[in-house]
Amino acid sequence: MKVEDLKSPQQGDHCLLCGGSPVVIGIFTPSDPIQWGAPTGKVRLIRYCLCSKCQGSPDTPEKVEKIIRVELAGGVIHE
Ligand SMILES: [Zn+2]
Repeated sequence: MKVEDLKSPQQGDHCLLCGGSPVVIGIFTPSDPIQWGAPTGKVRLIRYCLCSKCQGSPDTPEKVEKIIRVELAGGVIHE
């Protein structure tokens, strides 16, 4: 899967934080990919969506990282 594909809307997308309808798609790239399950030399990319309400909230980046750490949903290994 390419990074461009990750940024396309997909069926079943919903806001990571509240489940609302998404307006933005974000790609989370951990600074330490190996800790996140990526083989050495690969980059771990984790796709997530946010609604307009959550996108503008100042504590959203922190919440997003917490949720992703727990779920790792939609993550792919980028070659
Ligand atoms: Zn939301």
